[in-house]
Formats: sequence, structure tokens, C-alpha cells
Amino acid sequence: MLTLVCATANAHKARELEEILRSLGSFTLLPRPAGLASVEEDGSTFEDNAILKASAVCTATKSASIADDSGIEVDALNGRPGVFSARYAGEGASDAANRQKLLEELEGVVDRSARFVAAVAVAFPDGVILVVEGIVEGSVAEVDSGEGGFGYDSIFIPREGDGRSFAAMSALEKNELSHRGRALASMVEALAHAGRR
Ligand code: IMP
Repeated sequence: MLTLVCATANAHKARELEEILRSLGSFTLLPRPAGLASVEEDGSTFEDNAILKASAVCTATKSASIADDSGIEVDALNGRPGVFSARYAGEGASDAANRQKLLEELEGVVDRSARFVAAVAVAFPDGVILVVEGIVEGSVAEVDSGEGGFGYDSIFIPREGDGRSFAAMSALEKNELSHRGRALASMVEALAHAGRR
């Protein structure tokens, strides 16, 4: 059983990490300790930011820690919002404001192809850091649909799905297709390969 401290402060992402790790078995996920200073995500890639977050929490807690850094890349916008997904409409912007900005920028755009990317890093107190990435290809819808999910879920239609947005799927359905589900499946393999579980 590998015990990991959750380094992500986003409650939606933390819940998905917990659900997916539970389904993969042999993990105990401890909540991010209250009162930890937030980590400045100034890396230029998802992987850099995931490593920054996992390392900071590992150093603070002296325990193996796991972090997710993720976002949506839109081809017609040359990969934007990318690492700026959480603050696309400005620092502290709501999910609804970020979605609105994206939909406005894509008004009249025919090629709406996009992908969610998640980098997941695990940092160990002995200095070892593992990092992997998961991707789900899809497209940006013209209007919101679905009641679940968070962030850009209600405007993202995964290519391998049945035409529903991530927000219209159950948690299980989303996790089976999602960037986060794929990254965590790769992390399980990387941990086994590194002899860490
Ligand atoms: P960060 O990794 O904390 O910088 O934030 C990532 C941002 O990307 C979130 O605030 C969401 O807006 C977006 N995002 C990442 N993963 C997902 C997802 O699974 N669904 C919807 N939006 C996501």
C-alpha cells in the first residue's frame, strides 16, 4: 500500500484523483494539509508545474506527494489556454468566466479540435521524482451541456465518447476516458517500474 499526500488544492481535481487511485487499488491518498502555503505555478509546461507542486508538498510534509497540473489546449488558438487554463479570463476567474472567454474566442471557428492534458508527478522524500502525462483528444462544443464536472467539462466533447460532454457523463465514464485517468494509469506503471509499489 503506497500512501501519498495530495498536493493539489483544487477540490474537484483532488476528488477525481482520489476516485481514480481508489479504482486502481493499493493507494491511500491523504488530504493536502491545511495551512500549507500555495505553490506558485510559474513553470512553462504542465510537467514543470506538477513537479513544482509535488516537490513543495513533499518537502513540507516529508512524505511522498502527488500533484496534477492540467488544462485544455485548443488547436485554433495555437494551444491556448494551456497552462493558463485556470486563470484564462484573469487571476481568480470563475470556471464559467473561463469557458465564456473560450467560447467567445471560438465564435465562428470551424476547427474546434482540442485536448485535455494532465501531468501527474509523485515526489519522494529521498529526492526521486516521477512524472507522466495523459491526454484526451476531443473538441470544444458551441454551447455548455451537462450538469456534472468542473472547469471546461461542459464544453468538451471527447472524441472517443458518444457525443456527450464530460459534464454529461458519470464520474466513472469520465475517468475511464480522461487525461487524468490516463495519466494515473501511466503513473501506476511508472511506480511499479521504479520499484516504488
Ligand atoms: P491547474 O492544474 O490547477 O493549473 O488548473 C487546471 C485548470 O484546467 C482547471 O482549473 C480547469 O479549468 C482546467 N481543467 C483541468 N482538468 C480539467 C478537467 O478534467 N475538466 C475540466 N477542466 C479541467
